Amino acid sequence: MRFDRLRGIIADLDPGNTDRMNALELTGRARTHVIELDAPRCTLHYEAVAAFLGMRDAARAEGIDLQAVSSFRDFDRQLLLWNRKWRGDRPLYDRSGALLDPARLTEPQRVDAILAWSAIPGGSRHHWGSDIDVIDAAAMPAGYQVELVPAEYASDGVFGRLTGWLDRNQGRFGFFRPYGSDRGGAGIEPWHLSYAPVAREAVEALSLSILRSAIAGGDMLGKEHVLDRLPEIYTRFILAVDPPFLPERPGKTALV
Ligand SMILES: [Zn+2]
Repeated sequence: MRFDRLRGIIADLDPGNTDRMNALELTGRARTHVIELDAPRCTLHYEAVAAFLGMRDAARAEGIDLQAVSSFRDFDRQLLLWNRKWRGDRPLYDRSGALLDPARLTEPQRVDAILAWSAIPGGSRHHWGSDIDVIDAAAMPAGYQVELVPAEYASDGVFGRLTGWLDRNQGRFGFFRPYGSDRGGAGIEPWHLSYAPVAREAVEALSLSILRSAIAGGDMLGKEHVLDRLPEIYTRFILAVDPPFLPERPGKTALV
């Protein structure tokens, strides 16, 4: 291995570099930046734990049992989801939610169909430990199966009260919805919250070249079709999200 390449890797892994996630952490190939909690069960970036628990306490005081059904997810997990969809082991849907027949899709169309509802391995915000998919367990009837669809979070949906509470309160705990509106990339996900102080630095640190090397080194089906158009995918699915509120400017809260 060339010395300058080795020096780059050592710099990426510098344990003294605690403010910024390194390349492996940003792409879910390390878990040195996350902490596993038992109750509530979830895995979060160490800087997001206190904010999430504080928001949970405040919600509980109003009868909402805020739980994260998904939190940190590693590269291999995202890769498994991707490969299952590529092989047709999991159903594929278009952006409007209509079922697609994988046999009729070209390989580039298959990439689009997967990206409509799944992040690219290495490019999921769930790799950062700052992002969670939340429900209100207190609002669910016995035996209820969570689907994570927008209708559940509409004002008349099972989690409608949670949506209103988050609209009013998540900003003071540092959370926002990166997929709150359709910007031409990922679909609208009212359940997906992001802890701004960590996520804002992560999106700045996750360069196109870090993402490219994570994907190139992974055992990903259809990889050549993804690498061919990675700059476009990076712009549409990683950069084109709703911005957080701006805590350094009092009163400027985008979501309240
Ligand atoms: Zn999510």
